[in-house]
Amino acid sequence: MCGIVGVISKSPVNQMIYDALLLLQHRGQDAAGIVTMQGTKCFMHKARGMVRDVFRTRNMRALPGTVGLGQVRYPTAGNAYSEEEAQPFYVNAPFGIVLVHNGNLTNAHALKAELVEKDRRHINTESDTEVLINILAHELQNAARGSDLTPDVVFQAVGAVHKRIKGSYAVVALIAGYGLLAFRDPYGIRPLIYGTAETADGNSVIVASESVALEGTGHQVVRDVAPGEALFIDPNGNVHAKQCAENPTLNPCMFEYVYLARPDSVIDGISVYQARLNMGETLAQRLISTMPPSDIDVVIPIPESSRPSAMQLAQKIGKPYREGFVKNRYVGRTFIMPGQSVRKKSVRQKLNAIGVEFKGRNVLLVDDSIVRGTTSKEIVQMAREAGANKVYMASAAPPVKYPNVYGIDMPTPEELIASGRTQDEIREFIGADALIYQDVDAMKRVVGKLNGKVASFEASCFDGRYITGDVSVEDFSTMREQRRSQQTEEDDPARSRLALQNTGE
Ligand code: AMP
Repeated sequence: MCGIVGVISKSPVNQMIYDALLLLQHRGQDAAGIVTMQGTKCFMHKARGMVRDVFRTRNMRALPGTVGLGQVRYPTAGNAYSEEEAQPFYVNAPFGIVLVHNGNLTNAHALKAELVEKDRRHINTESDTEVLINILAHELQNAARGSDLTPDVVFQAVGAVHKRIKGSYAVVALIAGYGLLAFRDPYGIRPLIYGTAETADGNSVIVASESVALEGTGHQVVRDVAPGEALFIDPNGNVHAKQCAENPTLNPCMFEYVYLARPDSVIDGISVYQARLNMGETLAQRLISTMPPSDIDVVIPIPESSRPSAMQLAQKIGKPYREGFVKNRYVGRTFIMPGQSVRKKSVRQKLNAIGVEFKGRNVLLVDDSIVRGTTSKEIVQMAREAGANKVYMASAAPPVKYPNVYGIDMPTPEELIASGRTQDEIREFIGADALIYQDVDAMKRVVGKLNGKVASFEASCFDGRYITGDVSVEDFSTMREQRRSQQTEEDDPARSRLALQNTGE
C-alpha cells in the first residue's frame, strides 16, 4: 500500500506535495520521495523513513518547479530494505518520465522477462514500479513514433499499458516538458481522485490517493478518476480525460474502508467514516444473534480505525462506549514495520490499558480486523492483566482468510490466523471468551449501498475471489518462497533495529 500525489500549478509545488504526503502518511511509512520539474529538468529527493525525516529544509530548497509528484511507500512487492526501490522512478527515454505507483502488478515477473528479452530494456531492481514505468515508456515510444506528444498519443499508450499489465495500479507520471499523466487500473481497485484550486497565480490541479490530500492542500474535489481512465494535465492546467480500457468496472478495495484510508476521506463516492459506522451496525446485529448483549458491561475500541464501528455497535446494543486503550501516537502503525518479530514487540509499545475501564468488567473489544492475530492476542492479554472479568472480541471485518495480491501486505495463507482455522480455534488462539466476526455479504451490502455505482468490491482477502482472474494457488507458493528469502534478512537483529529507528521508536 502506498500514497501518491501529483500537482501542476503556476507557483512552486514542493511545499504542497510535502503537505499532501504528510496527509497520506498513514498509507506508508517506509520511504518517501518527491520529484519536481523546472523547465525540462527534474529534481528528485527520496529516502527511507517518514516524510518529516526524509525532507529537511535543504532538500526542499533543492526541489524547484511548478510541476511535481510524490509518494509515501509501504512495500508490498520487491525489497523492503532497498533505498533504490523508493519511488519516484525515472527513465530518460522517451522524453523523460518520472512515475509513482500505488498497487501491485500480478504479472510483474512475466513482464520483466518480456521487457528484457523483447523490448530490450534494462530492469535494475525487484520493484514492480520499475516494470510499470518501463512498460509505459515502451508504449509511449511506440505511440509517439513520428508524431508529437499530444493527449491522444498519451491515451493510446495508456490503452496499450492496460492490455499488458495486470493487477492493481493507480499511477501518476510526469512527462518532461509535456505535463502530468494519471491513470487507474480497469477494475478501479486502488483509489485515485483529482481536484483543482484557484490560487493567486492561477489554477492548480492535484491528483492523489485520497480526498483528504486534496482538501488539506486547499483543493476542491472534482471527481474520482474512473477505472481504466487516464487524465493528462498540460502545463497550463488543462485536464484532458479519456477512457482507455475496454471493459472497465468499478471494484474498489474493501480494505480501504476497513482500515487503510483515513476516515475523513471519501473514496469512490463512499465516505470511509460512514462505511465504518455501517459496519458497526451490522456487527451489532451479528453480535445480538450470537450472544446476549446483557453479558457485556462496556464496549472498548482498539484505536484508531475501529472507533466508528465500535461507537455504532455500542449505541445499537445500548452499552457504554469507553476508551480503554491509549495509543502512543509517536509509534508507527504496527503492520507498517517489516518483519514479524518487530511487529509483535511493538503492540505493547503502542497501546496501554486504562485499568479503571477493565477492572471486574465484561469487556467487548472491537478491532477493525484481525489479520495475523498477534495484535488481538496481545490486547486480550492486556485486558485480562488490567483486571477484566470476561474479554470478548469483535472484528468489524469478516475473517481475513486469503492472501491479498493487490497491494496490501497479506502475502501468504500461513500468516493469516483465519486461514484454515475454525472460528473457535481462532478464539482460542487469541485467548478471548467469545469472538464475533462481521459477515462478508452484510459488509458488502452496507458499504455498497453508500454508492450504487460501485459494481462490486475487491474483497479477495475475505471471499477468495480475485477479480483480475489471473491469480492462482501457484502464485501464492512463488510469493511464499520470495517471502521466506526476505524473512531471513528481516530476522537479522541489525535490520530490526533499523526498522525501529525508522518508525521513530
Ligand atoms: P494482526 O491481527 O496482529 O495482524 O493486526 C491486526 C491489526 O492490524 C488490525 O487493526 C488490522 O486492520 C491492521 N492491519 C491492517 N493491514 C494489515 C496488514 N497488511 N497486515 C497486518 N495487519 C494489518
